Amino acid sequence: MNWMEKELEAMADASLIRSLRACSSIPKCPGYTVRGERALLNLSSNDYLGLSQHPSIIEVMREALLIEGAGSGASRLVTGNRLAYGRLEEALSDWQNCEAALVFANGYMANSGVISALVRRGDVVFSDQLNHASIVDGTILSRAELARYRHNDMEHLRFLLSKYRDKRRKLIVTDAVFSMDGDQAPLHELVLLKHEYGAMLMVDEAHSGGIYGGRGEGLCHELGVQNEVDVHMGTFSKSFGVYGAYVCGSHTLIRWLINKARPLIYSTALPPSLVAGSTKALDLVQTEHWRRERLHEAIMLFRSSLSAAGFDVGAGDSPIVPIIIGDNDMALRFSNALEDEGIAAVAIRPPTVPDGTARIRFSLSAAHTDKELIAATARIRTVGLQLGVLRL
Ligand SMILES: *Cc1c(COP(=O)(O)O)cnc(C)c1O
Repeated sequence: MNWMEKELEAMADASLIRSLRACSSIPKCPGYTVRGERALLNLSSNDYLGLSQHPSIIEVMREALLIEGAGSGASRLVTGNRLAYGRLEEALSDWQNCEAALVFANGYMANSGVISALVRRGDVVFSDQLNHASIVDGTILSRAELARYRHNDMEHLRFLLSKYRDKRRKLIVTDAVFSMDGDQAPLHELVLLKHEYGAMLMVDEAHSGGIYGGRGEGLCHELGVQNEVDVHMGTFSKSFGVYGAYVCGSHTLIRWLINKARPLIYSTALPPSLVAGSTKALDLVQTEHWRRERLHEAIMLFRSSLSAAGFDVGAGDSPIVPIIIGDNDMALRFSNALEDEGIAAVAIRPPTVPDGTARIRFSLSAAHTDKELIAATARIRTVGLQLGVLRL
């Protein structure tokens, strides 16, 4: 096992080592996290709508726990498929206005399960270079060929579609909003290319579900392309503040996944309390519009104050706001300095992002107030100037 020590040392030298740090939360304060004895403004959570501390979700989960017990005891195909699943899947189909829906244990398992069920050896997956790791891993699991296209580059995708036109099945997969950059996929163009080359299209709404669309359905609905997307996937772990994932599509797709998606078949079903909690969260995502509105206000304020301070925050209107630093060590120093200022903002380094693009990834929540965000941007500016990331 000596090789491990050596490799870990090399990673430490390159400022690429990671370690787990304990955090805790404050009841009813989803905008903060506690490290040691200190409460930090949490600009590194995906709890975009601030639902993780919602009293009615917690109450529903508590009731379900008392009635249904702690664990589900078996896979959904055995005896783990509690009534709560059916209720959630029906609510999902109504919400997305689709034929059918299927709940998975989490987004990682949904992506790996769906992709490995849709394609196999001899097929090809066209995947944006910046797609989430679970999409890449799903493709590896499927044994289909991985054709990665340059980020949002439709000319490159067209070139690859044409190059692999004789492959049997073709699947185009994209994040709707990219998790480390916060920009959007060109869904209209992807739909056109899918039709032109006879490919399937799968969209991952992990960072857009709950945020876009009139009832939080996601970016596909916001852009009116939901009926052109074959596989619509999202999670309950981010905007919904709970845990789990969903896939929406046709009856046939869902029947196929129940029979072929191995992470669904060979893993124990989520505890019923979690499924009940996600069902309540789905209801709140649709009815508490003010959370989406508040989030969008917070996004506009934060993005414009950082720009005014001199940072390049890129385009877009998503709650993911990166400051690209480049150097791994500098990104860590930036993050540590922010922590000293009372802000939790994690440095994101390779391999999560491409080499040379280490960054601070801020993420916003409806729980943050204008006052907190204005104070935070002033501190971010001070740290930027101190470290020379920002020049006057
Ligand atoms: C977080 C994320 C996932 C994984 O979802 P989990 O429920 O956390 O496993 C999948 N895709 C994208 C784009 C994500 O950001």
